[in-house]
Amino acid sequence: MSDGKTGQIDNVMHESRLFPPSPEFASKARVKSVEEYEKIWNEAKADIPAFWDKFAKEELHWFEPYNQVLEWNCPDAKWFVGGKTNVSYNCLDRHLGTPTADKTAILWEGEPGDQRTLTYKELHVEVCKFANVLAGLGVETGDRVSLYMPMVPELAIAMLACARIGAIHSVIFAGFSAESIADRNNDAQAKVIVTADAGWRRGKELHLKAIVDEALEKSETIEKCVVLKRVGNEIEMKPERDLWWHELMADASAEREATPLDSETPLFILYTSGSTGKPKGILHTTAGYNLYAKKSFEWVFDHRDDDIYWCTADCGWITGHSYVVYGPFSAGATCVMYEGAPNFPDEGRFWEIIEKYKVTIMYTAPTAIRAFIKWGDQWVDKHDLSSLRLLGTVGEGINPEAWMWYHKKIGGERCPIVDTWWQTETGGIMMSPLPGAIATKPGSCTRPLFGIVPGIYDSSLEEVGKNQGGMLTITQPWPGMLRGVWGDRERFEATYWSRVPGKYLAGDNARCDEDGYYWIMGRIDDVINVAGHRLSTIEVESALVSHPLVAEAAVVGRPHDIKGEAIAAFVTLKDTEASEEAREILKQHVRKEIGALAVPDDIRFTSILPKTRSGKIMRRLLRDIASGKEEVGDTTTLEDYSVLAKLRDND
Ligand code: ATP
Ligand code: MG
Repeated sequence: MSDGKTGQIDNVMHESRLFPPSPEFASKARVKSVEEYEKIWNEAKADIPAFWDKFAKEELHWFEPYNQVLEWNCPDAKWFVGGKTNVSYNCLDRHLGTPTADKTAILWEGEPGDQRTLTYKELHVEVCKFANVLAGLGVETGDRVSLYMPMVPELAIAMLACARIGAIHSVIFAGFSAESIADRNNDAQAKVIVTADAGWRRGKELHLKAIVDEALEKSETIEKCVVLKRVGNEIEMKPERDLWWHELMADASAEREATPLDSETPLFILYTSGSTGKPKGILHTTAGYNLYAKKSFEWVFDHRDDDIYWCTADCGWITGHSYVVYGPFSAGATCVMYEGAPNFPDEGRFWEIIEKYKVTIMYTAPTAIRAFIKWGDQWVDKHDLSSLRLLGTVGEGINPEAWMWYHKKIGGERCPIVDTWWQTETGGIMMSPLPGAIATKPGSCTRPLFGIVPGIYDSSLEEVGKNQGGMLTITQPWPGMLRGVWGDRERFEATYWSRVPGKYLAGDNARCDEDGYYWIMGRIDDVINVAGHRLSTIEVESALVSHPLVAEAAVVGRPHDIKGEAIAAFVTLKDTEASEEAREILKQHVRKEIGALAVPDDIRFTSILPKTRSGKIMRRLLRDIASGKEEVGDTTTLEDYSVLAKLRDND
C-alpha cells in the first residue's frame, strides 16, 4: 500500500485471467514462445545499437550507408548517422521488383459504399505524380505541408508524396475547426495545404474546403491550397491560391525518383490530441521512425503475406501514420481503409466490412468497442467474422469486461488480442503482447517490445517494486522516439526529460506485476489521492464497467476537506434509467470489486462523456466540472462542445 509520500500508487485491481495463444497460432507465428521472446528481448537490451543495426541494414534501402547506428546525447538521439534513405522508397519502390508490386496495397471503401483498390505499383505511380505536383508548387525538402482530408487513398498518397521529396507533413484530423487548423498551420509555418471539397460522415457532407477557407484567413504562410473533388458539392475556388487535385495530377509526370534524405530529415509533425492540454507538434524523422514502424508492425500483428489488415484509425492520428501508412506499406501489407462512421448506414458497418473483405487482422480503439457493446450483439451476429485471426486495441486502456466481449464476440475466443500501449511521441507500439508468444491478461498491455526497456519510478526517483504503481519511463533510446516538439525546445525538455533525469517520461502511471506484465494505470495528472492512497483511474473505472448496467465510466478526483480528494464518477448506463437505486448498486459493486477505499463519493449519470476527437475520455475537463469550477481548461480538441453544458445541467 502507498504511503502517499513516495508517490506510489495502489494496485487495486485483481485481474488474474490468462489467455495463452493456441498452439496452432503459436506454431505459425514470427515469435513462437515466451522463451524465444525473452531471449531476443535480453539480447536486444544487452546491445541496443547492434540489435537495430541488423534490421536497418537488411530491411531499409540505403542510398548511402550510415556510419554510426546511434549517437545519443540525452535527450537528442540521432539514429543511423550519415546514412541516406527515403521513407517513400522503402514503402513503395522497394517492392517494385518483387511479387509485392502487383499485390493490393489499399482496399478502400467510401462511406456511401464506393470502392477502390490500388496495387503497390499503382500507388507508386500516384505518389510519384503528386510528389511532382508538390514540387511544381514550390514545395522543397524541409517545407511543411498541412493535410486536412477525409480517409481517402489520396491522404496516404499525399503523405507518401511529401516523404518522397522530404517535405514535412502535418496531418490535421478532418474533424477539427477552422481555428484549430489555423493554429496548426501557423505553428508549423506551413506553405501548402491539401484538402477536399467535402468528406462523408454519418451520411452527411462535412464541408472541409469551406472550413479551410475560414482557416486560411488566419494562416499567413499558406500559399497554395490543393483541393480534391470527393463529394462534388459547390465550393468557392479562390484564383491563384486554390487548385484542383485532378487538374494538377492530369498534367503531372509519373516519373519521380525518391530524394535521398539524411536519416534524421524530419518526416512529419503531428499535433497530439490534447487529452492533457494545449496540442503540441511532435516531430518524427526519417530512418529510425521508418524502421520502428515496420518492425513493430510485423512483430505485433504477426504479419503474413496473405493477411488482410484493417486498422480503423484515421490518418489524423499517430495510429494512422504508423499503422495505416508507414508500417504496413514498408512491410508490403494489404490494408483496408474505410472513410466513414462505424454506425452508417447502421451499427453493423464494421462487421459487414470484415465479412466483405475477409479481414484477418483488426486494430481498433476501446472507445469503439464500448460503443459496439452498447449498440448490442445483434449487429455482430448478422455477419461472418471467421476470417479474423488477430485483434488489436489502441488509444486508451481497455477495461477487462470490454476485452472479454471483444475476445468472445468478435474474436470467437480464437483470436489473440494485442492491447498496444504507445504514444504519438513514441512513434510506434512500445508494449504489447507478441501474439504467438505471450499469454494475455485482460487489461494489461503485457510486455515491452524488443529494444524497449521500461522503468517505473516513484516521486523520489526510486525504482518501485513489483505491483507498485509509479511514473512510467523508457530508460533507453529507441529508433521511433520523438526528436522534438516543433519550435519549442523548452517544452520538449520540460515535458519528457526533466522529471526523471536521463529517462523518457511517458506521462502515464503504470505497475509491473510478478510476471513482468505492465498495467497502465492512467495519466500521471489523473491519479486520485484518497487519504494518502493514490488510486489508478483505469482500475476504478474498470470496476464500474464490469457491472452489467454500465456502458462507460470516467473517474476523477475532486478536492475534499478530510480525505484530500474524493472520487467522482461519471457513468453512462447501458439502457437502465438513472436512479438512486442504480447509484447504490454501483457503489456496492465497487466496494465488492476493489474495497471501501475506491467507492466513489459521487456518481453522476450522463448520456455522454467529454472525449477528444480520437475518442479518448478527457478526464481533466471532468475534474474541473466535479470540483465545481466555472471555467474549464483548453477545450479546442473536445469532440462535442454541448457535452460540457449537458454535464453541468446534471449538477
Ligand atoms: P495529449 O498528449 O495531447 O494529451 P494523448 O496523450 O491522448 O494527447 P496520444 O499520443 O494519441 O495522445 O495517446 C497516448 C496516450 O494514450 C498514452 O500516453 C496513454 O495515456 C493512452 N494509451 C494509449 N494506448 C494505451 C493502452 N493500450 N493502454 C492504456 N493507455 C493507453
Ligand atoms: Mg500524451
